[in-house]
Amino acid sequence: MANSKFEYVRAFEQPDYLLPNTWIVVRVDGRAFTKMCAKYNFEKPNDRRALDLMNAAAKAVVTDLSDITIAYGVSDEYSFVIHKSSGLFERRASKLVSTIVSTFTANYVHLWPKYLPETPLSFPLPTFDGRAVCYPTVSNLRDYLSWRQADCHINNLYNTTFWTLIQRGGLDNKEAEKTLAGTLAADKNEILFSRFKINYNNEPEIFKKGSVIFRDYELVEPDSHTVAETMDSLAEPVKQSKTQTENDKKRRAKARIVVDHLDIIKNDFWDRRPWLLS
Ligand code: ATP
Ligand code: ATP
Ligand code: MG
Ligand code: MG
Ligand code: MG
Ligand code: MG
Repeated sequence: MANSKFEYVRAFEQPDYLLPNTWIVVRVDGRAFTKMCAKYNFEKPNDRRALDLMNAAAKAVVTDLSDITIAYGVSDEYSFVIHKSSGLFERRASKLVSTIVSTFTANYVHLWPKYLPETPLSFPLPTFDGRAVCYPTVSNLRDYLSWRQADCHINNLYNTTFWTLIQRGGLDNKEAEKTLAGTLAADKNEILFSRFKINYNNEPEIFKKGSVIFRDYELVEPDSHTVAETMDSLAEPVKQSKTQTENDKKRRAKARIVVDHLDIIKNDFWDRRPWLLS
């Protein structure tokens, strides 16, 4: 490769390799979606078509990048978890974030007419920001995902009550806000039930729990491992052989990708899918 006198500027680039052996979470979030909702008449508090579109764009990202173990989405955001052993783009933060954000955005725009056929896309076009954060332990990673799902629940209960007070109770924004000031979850459930006969528990799972995307293998029944098996696995060398790693990679690339609306805070989801965090 020929050198030029300009090439020294390359040295100005700063390395941004993320910490090895940590779970990388890349979260994308829609830019100014509050305005987007108004411009494109999203149904409040939850436009199902827009959520399905988010899920379809995220599924395309997970399909494209097999190092992504699991993804979780709510509202205008999606978190993509890259396996801690991944060497994708040498773990360079800017490469990872920009590739995921643009793959997501390209698919979101491409799939828009499929999910919102009556609403032609014009300006402003949907855009997303992104960031990467490393989590050193499975416990930190699970707490991260629990934090996002807890946020989904808190916001959805608030938004459902807020918009019901407006749409069915005839209140304006200010009055609805005032009604909800200082209320606890139980109070909101009570308002929904006593005034509008809405049982929050019967709201769609996608609204209450958000969406989780993962590669599906055979489900494992919890407690199906015998003590002997556990001892065997402890005796195995920690390091996997290269072919084993390659096989795992192929298996991951071929596995069915599932979009569902499940509780990822409790242990059950993870106990049944041990491959996600192993
Ligand atoms: P920023 O650019 O800082 O992210 P923002 O306006 O996007 O600004 P967020 O905190 O990301 O702010 O909030 C997203 C907004 O979009 C929320 O008000 C949320 O209720 C709304 N929203 C996102 N998805 C949907 C949807 N499918 N249906 C209805 N509203 C939605
Ligand atoms: P990476 O993902 O690492 O960037 P890459 O294949 O995109 O891989 P680049 O170094 O970015 O590698 O090279 C881009 C390639 O695309 C070059 O071979 C370049 O000649 C080709 N290319 C880009 N734009 C055009 C164009 N308009 N017409 C023809 N070839 C193009
Ligand atoms: Mg934001
Ligand atoms: Mg946003
Ligand atoms: Mg958001
Ligand atoms: Mg290129």
